[in-house]
Amino acid sequence: MTTTPTHSYTRRIPVDAPYDLVVAGGGPAGTAAAVCAARLGLKTLLVEATGCLGGMGTSGLVASFGPVSDGERMLVGGFMKELLDTMWQQKAFGPQVVPEFLNAQLNRWVPFKPEHLKRILDDFAVQAGVELRFFSRVVDVEMEGDRLRGVVLSNVEGLRFVEAKAFVDATGDAALAALAGAECKVVLRDTDTVAPSTLCSLLGGMHWDDPAYGSDWQGIDAVKNRTKAELLPQAIDDGHFTQEDRFMPGMNKIGERTATLNAGHVFQLNPLSVRSLSDGMVFGRKLALEYLEFYRQYVPGCADLELLATAPVMGVRDSRRIVGEFELGIEDFRNRRQFPDQIAVYNRPTDVHPTDTSKAEYERFLKDFHGKDNLGRGGCVGIPYSILVPRGAQNLWVAGRCHSSDTKVHGSIRAQSAAYMMGQAVGTAAAQSISTGQPACDLDTQALVETLRRAGAFLPQETLSHEMTRS
Ligand SMILES: Cc1cc2nc3c(=O)[nH]c(=O)nc-3n(C[C@H](O)[C@H](O)[C@H](O)COP(=O)(O)OP(=O)(O)OC[C@H]3O[C@@H](n4cnc5c(N)ncnc54)[C@H](O)[C@@H]3O)c2cc1C
Repeated sequence: MTTTPTHSYTRRIPVDAPYDLVVAGGGPAGTAAAVCAARLGLKTLLVEATGCLGGMGTSGLVASFGPVSDGERMLVGGFMKELLDTMWQQKAFGPQVVPEFLNAQLNRWVPFKPEHLKRILDDFAVQAGVELRFFSRVVDVEMEGDRLRGVVLSNVEGLRFVEAKAFVDATGDAALAALAGAECKVVLRDTDTVAPSTLCSLLGGMHWDDPAYGSDWQGIDAVKNRTKAELLPQAIDDGHFTQEDRFMPGMNKIGERTATLNAGHVFQLNPLSVRSLSDGMVFGRKLALEYLEFYRQYVPGCADLELLATAPVMGVRDSRRIVGEFELGIEDFRNRRQFPDQIAVYNRPTDVHPTDTSKAEYERFLKDFHGKDNLGRGGCVGIPYSILVPRGAQNLWVAGRCHSSDTKVHGSIRAQSAAYMMGQAVGTAAAQSISTGQPACDLDTQALVETLRRAGAFLPQETLSHEMTRS
C-alpha cells in the first residue's frame, strides 16, 4: 500500500462576522434550509460551490421533480408546496404539466425549466434575507469539543473563517459532516448496489408536435415506453452504443421545442475522487453525443435534435451518507412505516439504477421499481428527523442526498422533492435549537413537528413524541 506524502502548514486567514446558521450547499436541501431558517429570524449564510441555487435540478440539468403525490393526495406541503405554486404561476413547468400531475398521479415526475427554477430560488433567498456566497466551498472546519465552531471557506478572495451557532450540511456528499469527523458511510463498491452517475444534457430542435406524441403527456409516455422497450434494444443490437446499457430514463419535455436528457450511465465512477470525476465528465460528454445520435436516428420527432449543452457538473446519484441517529431501511419502507418524529412523508419507488450493463442488473432494477419496492397508490413512508442528525451531533444537521438510509431507500428519498422537505426540517430544527439550547441529537421532536405543521408541512402521524426515533 502506498502512503500519500503529507505537508503541514499554518496560515492566518480573515474572519467574517459570525452567523446564526451556515448552510453548506445550495441545492434543493440547502436552499430550503437556508430560506426557512432565515424566515424564522436566523442570520443565515448559504455557501454554494457553483453560481446558482438548485443543485442537481439546475446545475445538473436534472429538470424534473420526483413525485409529489401518492396518486391520491399531495404529499408535499410547506416550502416545497410553495415552490410548486410559484413555479406554476411563473409557468416554470413543462408545457404538458397539468394540476393532475401534481396531486393525483402515481409515480409521476414533474418536468420544469431549470432557468426558471434558478431565478425563483434566487428570489426566495433574497426576500428571506439569506446571505448568498456563490463560487465558495466549505473546505475545512474547526471544532470546539464536540461542537462545530466554524468553517473555512475557499473562493476567489482566498480563505475565510466563518463562525456560527449552527450548521447544515447540504453538499450531497456529506462534505461538511465528514470534515467535522461525523461517522459516514462511503457508498462505493462496498455494497451490492452502487448507483452509477449520469451527465445530463439540454437539447433543442425537438418536434414534440410530431403526431407520435399526441396532444398530451400520455402520448409522450407512450413514445418513452416504446423507446425503452423497443427502440433502445434495437439500437443496441445494431451496435450503435459503446456500452450495452439497457436502461435510460430518457427525455423530459421542458419547452415546446426543448428537452433535457437523462441518459448515459457512467459506471463505477468514484464521486469522491477528482480524477474519477474528471474522467467521468470526459466519458459523459462522449456518451451524450451517442444518445443524441440514437434519438435522431431511431425516435420519432427527433431528427433535428441538437445538443445545446451538457451539464457543468456530474450527476452523482450517491456517494457518502452520514451514519445518523437512525437509518431508514428497506423494511421500514416496504411496511410504509410512519414515525412520531417524521418531518415529511414520501412515495417514490426505490430507483437504484443498474450498477453495470448486465441483463441481470437491469432485471433487478425493473423488479424493484415495479414490484415490492413501489409503495403504490395511497401509500407513503415517513422520513424521520433522526436520519438528518449525525450520531451525537450537537449543532450540525444534514439534509438531502447525504441523509442516513440504506441504499435501496436512498434510491427513493434522494429525490429533489424530498430533499426540499428535509431542508425545511433542518432549517427549522436549527432555529429551535438556537432558541431553546436543545442540541441536534436531543431536540424536542414534538415541538419541531408542530412548528412544521404550522408552516404547512403534511405530517399525518397520529402520535407525536418529544424523543426522536433511534435505532
Ligand atoms: C442523473 C440524476 C438524475 C436524477 N433524477 C431525478 C429526478 O428525475 N427527480 C428528482 O427529484 N431527483 C432526481 N435525482 C436526484 C436528485 O437530483 C438529487 O438527489 C437531489 O438534487 C439532492 O439534493 P441535495 O440538495 O442533497 O444535493 P444537490 O442537488 O447535489 O446539491 C448540492 C449542492 O451543494 C454544492 N456543494 C457541494 N459541495 C460543496 C461544498 N463543499 N461547499 C459548498 N457547496 C457545495 C453543490 O454545488 C450543489 O449545488 C437525480 C439525480 C441524478 C444524479
